[in-house]
Amino acid sequence: MTTPRHRTTKLIVPLTGQTVGQMRQDMDRAKAIGADMVECRLDYLAKPPTQEDLRQLLIDAPLAVIATNRPAHEGGRWNGDEASRLAVLAQAAELGADYVDIEVGVPRAQWPHGQIIHSHHDFKETPKDILQIAASLDATGAAVSKLAFLAENPADALLAMDILRICRKPTLALAMGEAGVCSRILARKFGAMGTFATLSNDQQSAPGQPTLSDLKELYRWDAIGAHTAVYGVIGCPVAHSMSPAIHNAAFAAAGLDAVYVPLRIEPGQDAFNTFLDALRQRPWLDWRGLSVTIPHKEHALAYIGQASCEDLAVQIGAVNTITLEPDGSLRGKNTDYSAAIDALCQAMRIDRTDLAGRACGVLGAGGAARAIVAALAHYEAKVTVYNRTPERAQLLAEEFGGRWAPLDAAPSAPNEILINCTPLGMSPQVEQSPLESIPPATRVVFDTIYNPLETRLLRQARSAGCLTVSGLDMFVNQAAAQFEIWTGRAAPRKVMRNVVVKRLGGRDTP
Ligand code: NAP
Repeated sequence: MTTPRHRTTKLIVPLTGQTVGQMRQDMDRAKAIGADMVECRLDYLAKPPTQEDLRQLLIDAPLAVIATNRPAHEGGRWNGDEASRLAVLAQAAELGADYVDIEVGVPRAQWPHGQIIHSHHDFKETPKDILQIAASLDATGAAVSKLAFLAENPADALLAMDILRICRKPTLALAMGEAGVCSRILARKFGAMGTFATLSNDQQSAPGQPTLSDLKELYRWDAIGAHTAVYGVIGCPVAHSMSPAIHNAAFAAAGLDAVYVPLRIEPGQDAFNTFLDALRQRPWLDWRGLSVTIPHKEHALAYIGQASCEDLAVQIGAVNTITLEPDGSLRGKNTDYSAAIDALCQAMRIDRTDLAGRACGVLGAGGAARAIVAALAHYEAKVTVYNRTPERAQLLAEEFGGRWAPLDAAPSAPNEILINCTPLGMSPQVEQSPLESIPPATRVVFDTIYNPLETRLLRQARSAGCLTVSGLDMFVNQAAAQFEIWTGRAAPRKVMRNVVVKRLGGRDTP
C-alpha cells in the first residue's frame, strides 16, 4: 500500500541566519520543535560560504536539507555573479544537501548533480498562466516543482490547491502574503511535498509564512488529512482574529477532523464575491463553513441573498455565519445578536422575554450596535441609542422603533441596562471609557469589548455596584453558536472560553 500523500508533507523551516554557526544552531532548534526539513538560505549568509563553511553546515546535519542560494532578481540576497552562485550550490549538493533549489531560467546544463527543486517565484502577483507554468515544471527532469506567488485574494491561494491536484511529481505550491496563508496550512490536506514554517515571526523568508508552533498548535497540522473539513474566517484585518484559535480548539476538543483558517479579503463586495465564487467552483475543497467579520458582513448577506438567510440577519443587514451545504447552496445566519442577548440574559438570570419594557441604553451605532438594537427591539426592550454622530443614532433608533440622543447624554439617562458598542477602552487604548461615571439608575453594564477582558468601563461599573457583563461572553457565544450550526453538536464552551482567556493573558476557568 502506498503512503497517503498528506503523511509525507514536510514541515520545512527556512534558516536565515547570517553565519553558518547560527544556521546550524537553528537546525537543532528546528528539529527539537518538530520540523522535518530545513531550507538553508545560503544567500542570507553575511559572506559567500566557503567549502569549509558548507562542510560545517551540512555534514551530519540533524534534518534533511534544501540548499538555496537565491539571486536578488528572484527575491533573494545573492548579489555575486551567476557562476559563483551555482558553484556554491554544486558544492552543497556534493557535501550532502538532500535537495538543491534551482530557479526556472537556469539552463539544464548548469544544474548541479543532485535532487533538484525547480522553482518559480513571483513576488508581485499571481501569474494568470500559473497552471500552465505548473504543468511545464511538472514535465522537467527535476525531482520537485516549487511555485510561489503573491496572492491578492484567498481565491489566488486556491490556485495553489489546483496545482497540487494536477501535478504528478512532488510539488510545493504556495501563495505568499496574508491572503495566501490558507495555502500554507492546507498544503498537507492536498499532499504537497512540504510547507514552509518559521522558527519565529522575525525569521520569515517570504511573506505570510506562519511559525512552526502556530502551524502545529493553532492550526492542528498533525491532524490534517485528505478528508479534513475546512472552515475559515473572512475579514480585513484578520491576522489578530481569535476565531482560528477558538474554533480549532473546539474541533480538537470534539475530536472532529476539521481545520479553521484565516482569510484576508480586501474591503468591498467585489473582493468578497471573487473568493466565494472561487470556493464554490471547487467542491473538492471540503469547505463547510465561514465566519464573516468586519468589513464583510453586509457583503455576505448580499452574496447569499435574503431568501437563504434567517429573518433577523436580514433585518440587521449582516451575516456573520455562512454554511456551505453539500448541494453547493449557501445559508446565512447572524450569531452576534443572540450571542449578545444571551450573554446579557445569562448574567442577569432572566429569559429573553423578560427584557420587555426594560430601559436599555446602547452606546454606539455601528455594526455591533445594530445587531444588539435589533435584538433588544425584537424582545420589546425600551431602547435608546447614544452616538458620537447623533444622525447615525437617529437612523438606527428610528429603524427599530427606539429613541436616540448624543453620546454625552448617556451619563444622565435613567437606563437600567447600558451596553457599550463603541471601541472606547479596547486594547491598546485601555485607559479610555465611553462614560465619565456610571449613571445612578444603571444596574447592569455590558461592554462588548473583550480585549482587555475587563475594560475601564467594567471596572467603573463594578465599583458602582453594578452587575457587569464582558464582551468575552458574547464572543464565546457567537463562536459556540457557529460551531453548533456547522457540526450539529454541543460546543465545548469551556475549552473555547479558556483558549481566548489564555491568549488574552487571563486565567482559565476551572
Ligand atoms: P463600527 O461599525 O465601526 O462602529 C463603531 C461605533 O463606535 C460607531 O457608532 C462610532 O461612532 C463609535 N465610535 C468609534 N470611535 C469612537 C470614539 N472615539 N468616540 C466615540 N464613539 C466612537 O464597529 P462595530 O463593528 O460596531 O464594533 C464596535 C465594538 O464592538 C468593537 O470595538 C468591538 O470591541 C465590539 N464587538 C464585540 C464583539 C464580541 O463578540 N464581543 C463583536 C463585534 C463587536 P460614529 O458613528 O460617530 O463613528
